[in-house]
Amino acid sequence: MTSLPLIPAISVAPAARRASMPPQHLADLDLAGRQALVTGLGEPAFRAKQVSNHYFGRLVRDPQAMTDLPAATRERLADQLLPTLLNPVRELACDDGATRKALWRLHDGALVESVLMGYPDRVTVCISSQAGCGMACPFCATGQAGLTRNLSTAEIVDQAVYMAGVAASGVVAGSPPRLSRVVFMGMGEPLANYNRVIAAIRRLVSPAPEGLGLSQRHITVSTVGLVPAIHRLASEDLSVTLALSLHAPDDDLRDELVPVNQRWKVAEVLDAAWDYAARTGRRVSIEYAMIKDVNDQPWRADLLGRLLAGKLAHVNLIPLNPTPGSRWDASPKPVEREFVRRLRDAGVSTTVRDTRGREIDGACGQLAAAEDNDTNTDRAGEAPA
Ligand code: SAH
Repeated sequence: MTSLPLIPAISVAPAARRASMPPQHLADLDLAGRQALVTGLGEPAFRAKQVSNHYFGRLVRDPQAMTDLPAATRERLADQLLPTLLNPVRELACDDGATRKALWRLHDGALVESVLMGYPDRVTVCISSQAGCGMACPFCATGQAGLTRNLSTAEIVDQAVYMAGVAASGVVAGSPPRLSRVVFMGMGEPLANYNRVIAAIRRLVSPAPEGLGLSQRHITVSTVGLVPAIHRLASEDLSVTLALSLHAPDDDLRDELVPVNQRWKVAEVLDAAWDYAARTGRRVSIEYAMIKDVNDQPWRADLLGRLLAGKLAHVNLIPLNPTPGSRWDASPKPVEREFVRRLRDAGVSTTVRDTRGREIDGACGQLAAAEDNDTNTDRAGEAPA
């Protein structure tokens, strides 16, 4: 096995700024909360529904287009309910426009990214739940930068609503014009920003005008394995898909690849995953980045197979995506195939994830939100390798 670097303690990066949350937005509130806000402004309660319908139902955020509102109050309502949260810095596209990454500047200067992926039958957006991440996984670009701050509920939701608008504009060639799936696989550890992420999920799944009306089972929350939060998620009345970033079947290696394993061990995190599966009836997705000579040995495939056999689980192997300064490589294809074969022989359903967005640094683990890193701009629009 290659030697691994010393793992930094899981902590907030030294450069972390003081948390500065954005102004309140209608997506922070449920419909009743919006109605209370609107009546507090001296407007009739039904205005909350009207503005919500523009935002979630029609994907319209320009007050001038809200012609069912009296001209005199449009601006004022939009100021209070729809402050701009995400300022676009840059948008990159590849795969002939089917993959699009947006870099946003938040009100305090923090940067986050979202990635839209179009397929023939569906459109998925990968959104961020935190600016940066405090989990320090050494193979992940986001993890290297440390945590800046949690995103607000509306900052999370607005990424999906914005990308739903992009999909509706028809630019995602060869895909339906409707956003259908949201994965919390962008920057950040969603379960470390628990309350806001749960509120965001509720907005995403509530029917319009309260929310975006997505199906619960089309939402995936990916976690490094914060055990108490997984149990808590299992007790919400939500049947979203849980993805667990396992990456190693043994504690020795997982302690290094996913440092939070030093707190909650493989056995404990898998127990939490099975609790989630039992209580929701949902198959858990086990994420496993294939890292050459690090976690891709046949014996680890066999051990993983024994841990997962007979469980409500599906393995998603992710070919390691390159990140700056990393000395690790993706496993060679024959090694990957052997790993898949052994898992399937153990009766474990296994697929290999595509490497969508690699050339725009938009694939798993590549989101680092560097504003001045324009090196890929000229490659946008390039066909996949
Ligand atoms: N913090 C959450 C959400 C991030 S999801 C989590 O860790 O689950 C992003 C997924 O991509 C995780 O499974 C993560 O471990 C994986 N990943 C991170 N860096 C990667 C890389 N360089 N190549 C492939 N996958 C990576």
